[in-house]
Amino acid sequence: MAQYKLLTPGPLTTTDTVKNKMLEDRCTWDDEYKNLTQAIREKLLTIGMASAREYTVVLQQGSGSFVVESVLQTALSDEDHVLIISNGAYGERMIKMAQVMKKNVTPVCFPYNETPDVNVLKKILERDDSFTHIAFVHCETTTGILNPIEEICEMAIQKNLKVILDAMSSFGGVPINIPALDIDYLISSANKCIQGVPGFGFVIAKQTSLELCEGNATSVSLDLYDQWKSMNIDGKWRFTSPTHVVAAFRQAIRELEEEGGVERRYQRYRSNNTYIINEMKKIGFEPYVESAFQSPIITTFLYPNKTFEFQDFYKYMKERGFVLYPGKLMDKPSFRIGNIGDLHRTDFEILIKIIKEYQMMKGEEV
Ligand SMILES: *Cc1c(COP(=O)(O)O)cnc(C)c1O
Repeated sequence: MAQYKLLTPGPLTTTDTVKNKMLEDRCTWDDEYKNLTQAIREKLLTIGMASAREYTVVLQQGSGSFVVESVLQTALSDEDHVLIISNGAYGERMIKMAQVMKKNVTPVCFPYNETPDVNVLKKILERDDSFTHIAFVHCETTTGILNPIEEICEMAIQKNLKVILDAMSSFGGVPINIPALDIDYLISSANKCIQGVPGFGFVIAKQTSLELCEGNATSVSLDLYDQWKSMNIDGKWRFTSPTHVVAAFRQAIRELEEEGGVERRYQRYRSNNTYIINEMKKIGFEPYVESAFQSPIITTFLYPNKTFEFQDFYKYMKERGFVLYPGKLMDKPSFRIGNIGDLHRTDFEILIKIIKEYQMMKGEEV
């Protein structure tokens, strides 16, 4: 089978050593497996620079969205009011979830190529003092924009709001000091910057906040509080867990440590992202997001001209081992290049070389 390099923000290209951990079958009630779960929970605290005195980790079956939904289900009581910020599809998804659950939610939307304006947020919060929570996305994978986490968290501290952060596509790849930012719930999943395979996500939660959430959820499977209480006893998941995925994730964390931790991984991502953008600009591809807001995770490029056909380009690239990611903008034709996963400078040098060959073949300017 051909091994494609996935230039997508998860599922992504994993190492053979991560994949190999899935060749063994494991029992969910066995001590060895429960200890694996406990070790992962401990390691995730370290990655988030949090201590076990203040924070706890809950793992949850499903893709990342299931975990976002479980946090909204569990963290918000009938008395709470959440301000959900959006500048992309994942912010919009959170808004939709909260609305479907009939939580008390106020959405605030910004253009996809702009970061949330904290002055606008402050005005909303000043007009209405019923807000208890604020929820937002760190790296909006829709465009690759990186939202100003420090500014928004600082405002949340001033306004005494609990913070729900979708750090799905940034945690493990961008340093985040959870206690310093006073985040109440940080959400991420196995198949993003920690470079595992898909199947579960996790929440790093402030214990004093989660402790107050008993009975909030109107769903059994997505009740994060119950999942926590059960998992906290000895590492046993409530229902069947993705055992192979969990074992692979433990290995992925080991490899993050071997790489030198989050800071080093961030440098690799950042340097490769900068390389891609610089090289793409030279051959006529403009990034959609301003460089000051560009995340090191994924980049949206606009079509270089009117004759550009993404399907044709996609096919050409796939035949040569690279899988690109279609765009998600409403107004402008675009595509995306992700650079997280087990991908290195040489991979991107080859990528750029193939893109140049494609342009030569099409007779476009180089
Ligand atoms: C990947 C991702 C999610 C979760 O998506 P799933 O398809 O459910 O795994 C949520 N938010 C962001 C910002 C993401 O990048």
